[in-house]
Amino acid sequence: MSGRGGEAEVLVLDTSAFISGYGAPGSGEALYTVPAVKGEVREGGLQRLRLENAERTGVLTVLEPGEKYRKEVQRVLAEMGETRVLSEADTQILSLGLQLKTEGKNTAIVSDDYAVQNVADRLGLGIKSLVTRGIKKRYRWTTYCPGCRRTYQDPPRDGVCQICGTKLKRRPSTEREIA
Ligand SMILES: [Zn+2]
Repeated sequence: MSGRGGEAEVLVLDTSAFISGYGAPGSGEALYTVPAVKGEVREGGLQRLRLENAERTGVLTVLEPGEKYRKEVQRVLAEMGETRVLSEADTQILSLGLQLKTEGKNTAIVSDDYAVQNVADRLGLGIKSLVTRGIKKRYRWTTYCPGCRRTYQDPPRDGVCQICGTKLKRRPSTEREIA
């Protein structure tokens, strides 16, 4: 799946995409993200400054997806049985992706989250994975439960929370590079 979206004109970024360095000037594609992602990028941090600078210079557009597209994404999520897995930020990213695609733009989602990639694929969106850029290895990742917020040092093999049964997700736990 990660090879898709190579010719996308428009990229919709999730939080880990910013932390991995997307949003720097001169990357070519039009970049979009959603208010919930902006809220997840730590205030005062380097990534937040980069995000705000990209927004100010017009490289990045922060856009709230239309209600119509949110509803369509919710419908597809329910159909796929994915409703518990996705955060508000993930739902907004997918809704905005669908909206931009519907407006005729060749749109790809930038996310390493497997559930997000699955839904993006179902919606007919392109997918760009950070793994393919070889950046991911430079960051530490924390496995956590989006349901009960428990974090795992040693993630269970089945990828499901041992406390509440929600599918586990990962997030970058530090902005520092691992040399
Ligand atoms: Zn849990």
